[in-house]
Amino acid sequence: MRVFQSPLELKNELRSLDAKIGFIPTMGALHNGHISLIKKAKEQNDIVVVSIFVNPTQFLKGEDLDKYPRREQADKRVCELAGVDYLYYPNTSDMYEKDEVSVLAPNVRGYILEGTSRPGHFSGVLTVVMKLLNIVRPTNAYFGKKDAQQLKLITLMVKQMFMDVNIIPVDTMRDSFGLALSSRNDYLSEDEKKEALKIPASLKKATGMIVSGEYDCEKIIKEMRSVLAPLEISYVAIVTREFEPLKRVELNNTIILVEALSGSTRLLDNIWL
Ligand code: AMP
Repeated sequence: MRVFQSPLELKNELRSLDAKIGFIPTMGALHNGHISLIKKAKEQNDIVVVSIFVNPTQFLKGEDLDKYPRREQADKRVCELAGVDYLYYPNTSDMYEKDEVSVLAPNVRGYILEGTSRPGHFSGVLTVVMKLLNIVRPTNAYFGKKDAQQLKLITLMVKQMFMDVNIIPVDTMRDSFGLALSSRNDYLSEDEKKEALKIPASLKKATGMIVSGEYDCEKIIKEMRSVLAPLEISYVAIVTREFEPLKRVELNNTIILVEALSGSTRLLDNIWL
C-alpha cells in the first residue's frame, strides 16, 4: 500500500494508471463498516483508494472536531490488511486554502433532519467530497446507507454537477447487539452503549408494525419515540427515498430515520424499506 499526503502527487500517480478506481472517503477510526465498503470496492474495481481526513468544515462550533478519534497507525494497518492500494492522508492545509469556493447543500433536502440540527454540516460534507472526487477521479465511490441524508445529497451533487462517478450505496454494518457501527461509538460508556440499543430497537419496532399491516407513519413514529425514551431524540422521520415526508409507508420507497443522543453522543440509524 502506498500512502500519499499531497493531493497533486496522488492525482499524478492515479492519472498515470489505466485502471478502474474504487474510492472510499472516510474520517478514520476505521471499523468493520468501513471495511465492508473497502471489500465491495475491491470486488468491483482494479485499484482501491481510501482517504482518511477529519474534515473541519463539516463540524459546527462546539462539536467534537478536536476529540474525534484519530488512530493513524492502526488505520494504516487496517487498510493494508484490507488490501487497499492507495491511502490518501492529507492535512487540513493540503485540502483547504484561506479563502475558498464552497459547495452549498440544497435548501429543501439539505436543511431537514440532520441539516436542521447541524446547519452548515452538509455544505462542509459536499465541499470535501467534491474535492476528494476531483483528486481521485474514481469510477466508483462508496458511501454507507447509515448516513442516508449524506448519501442522498452526494448523489444529487454528482448528478447536478455532471460529475463522472458512480455513487454506490453500501448496507449498514452492526455489532452483535444490533448497534450500527460508528467511530463515535468510541465515546460511549458501557451504560450509554446499552441505552443506545434503543435506537435499533425502535427501528425493529417500526418494522414489526409494518409487517403486521400498520402503515400509518404518525402511529409508527409515536411507538418508536416511546421505545427510544428516555434518550434525547433529535428526530424520528419517515420519508421517501427522495426525502419527501410520508403519511403512509410505501413499500420499496421508504426510509425510516432516527437521530438520538446517548449521553452527549449523537447517533444515527435508519432502515430502508
Ligand atoms: P466516516 O468515517 O464516519 O465519515 O464514514 C465513512 C464512510 O463509511 C461513510 O460513507 C459512512 O456512511 C460509511 N459508514 C460508516 N459507518 C458505517 C456502517 N456501520 N456501515 C456501513 N457504512 C458505514
